[in-house]
Amino acid sequence: MSADAVAGGSPMIGLGRPLESSTCSRADCRNTGRWRLDWRNPRIHSADRVKTWLACDEHVEYLREFLAARDFPLTVSALDTFAPDSPENQR
Ligand SMILES: [Zn+2]
Repeated sequence: MSADAVAGGSPMIGLGRPLESSTCSRADCRNTGRWRLDWRNPRIHSADRVKTWLACDEHVEYLREFLAARDFPLTVSALDTFAPDSPENQR
């Protein structure tokens, strides 16, 4: 059983989901991602295999802790882009 399989038992995160949208990677969250988390599972990924999650302000800490708790190499960086259709960005 891999670490992914362990995490896959939870409905909260779609592990392995490709970066296909600009929304938060936490399951059921439709917020615009404002942070990117580049991470790797050293047990199953080679050094050049990096996964990227997006996180909204609300969940960036949650996702960071999720990965940090598993000792995954992790880089968190702010996204410069923003979605014009996000209500937060409308005056
Ligand atoms: Zn979120």
